[in-house]
Amino acid sequence: MRNPSALLLINIAQLLTLRHPPQAQGPRRGPALKELGIIEDAAVLCLGGKIVSIGKTKDALRDPWLKKNRKKVLEINCEGQVVLPGFVDSHTHPVFVSPRLVDFEKRISGASYEEIAEAGGGIRSSLAGVRRAGKSLLAEKVLDALHEMAELGTTTVEAKSGYGLSVESELKSLEAIRTAAARWPGTVVSTLLGAHVVPAEFRGRSQKYVELVCNEMVPQAAKRKLAQFVDVFTERGAFSAQETEQVFAAAEKHGLGVRAHVCQLSQTALQTLLRFDPASFDHMDHVSDDDITELSRRDAVATLVPGANYFLGLDCYPPARKLIDAGVPVALATDYNPGSSPTASMPFVMSLACTHLKMSPAEAITASTINGAWALRLADRKGSIEPGKDADLAVFEAADYREIPYWFASNRCAFAVLNGTLVASGGSGELG
Ligand SMILES: [Zn+2]
Repeated sequence: MRNPSALLLINIAQLLTLRHPPQAQGPRRGPALKELGIIEDAAVLCLGGKIVSIGKTKDALRDPWLKKNRKKVLEINCEGQVVLPGFVDSHTHPVFVSPRLVDFEKRISGASYEEIAEAGGGIRSSLAGVRRAGKSLLAEKVLDALHEMAELGTTTVEAKSGYGLSVESELKSLEAIRTAAARWPGTVVSTLLGAHVVPAEFRGRSQKYVELVCNEMVPQAAKRKLAQFVDVFTERGAFSAQETEQVFAAAEKHGLGVRAHVCQLSQTALQTLLRFDPASFDHMDHVSDDDITELSRRDAVATLVPGANYFLGLDCYPPARKLIDAGVPVALATDYNPGSSPTASMPFVMSLACTHLKMSPAEAITASTINGAWALRLADRKGSIEPGKDADLAVFEAADYREIPYWFASNRCAFAVLNGTLVASGGSGELG
């Protein structure tokens, strides 16, 4: 890891700026998803963790400030490489102890996600490990995931609690996220997902559990500034739309933003949830046509997580084309978690988006960068390479950006820059 105060990348084959198209406002939708703002033979100058200028290499080298200060600048030749904004992974569940290998085998032999959950597997089976674990072990687990994400080009991560499901274990999970985030150079946004599923001790008394989330978890997480968002798994077998509204109302009362897992396995009407101005609705496999029309008029982002469909072996994938063609802003995320999507790789998710969701490579890149930033309400700092924004970059061994989703299941990320700090990818050796 290196943290130079000044960093200059030159001779970049393609710089994907994702700069704001003049006609577009808010998150990217429709044809604006394809506008990558590419500069060839480009350069980027970063100072003190911020991007200060972008342009052609020859113009950058003529800059009077640079001429005078070149010795103080760490210069990296990016010949044969593509540089784009670091990925914004806006949906992950990194606070868990063990992989869920029994569920994995059961599913292979034919059990469904819901059958496994009914038999005591699924989300509930991650609870024991998290409840037993000390905060430092959980923080180590989160930090391992964050390091792996950075090696794959991710520089901003949304991290949820949700495998503790008691006041103590949910707060411990959020503290673990905070500890890990302080030791990682990228940016972490934390989310309280106390309403992930009803734990066994509240079986048949889901209203009591919702009250615990609303009256204790949310206020304490807000008071201790442990979360920016509150999330709910709105699904049969988890929480109803009405219970989701209760949790959202508690979040609103305590000044926290809201987001929800919705329409993953069945349809939920989104109308009643929209009054809470959610930043994002995630999954969206079974969203209704009426809700698609409604979302096309709003800035709430539809965050698609096809890694879960892939890993659960589903035939059905989220209706990305329908959403995009209707004008709904779409983001992509890994949904990194031990049950349904154990991958930290945004490039793999982008590849799935191209092959299974029929998104173009350009749409997949926009959905993984600037629209991910919108889904976290960080678009003023993250998701594009523009002067004034945070120095978050991903550098790929590729002459053309379409290679990023093309070479699936291999890591072509050479290095990433996270708030100005360079992190080399495992296999790439020396920087520059
Ligand atoms: Zn999730």
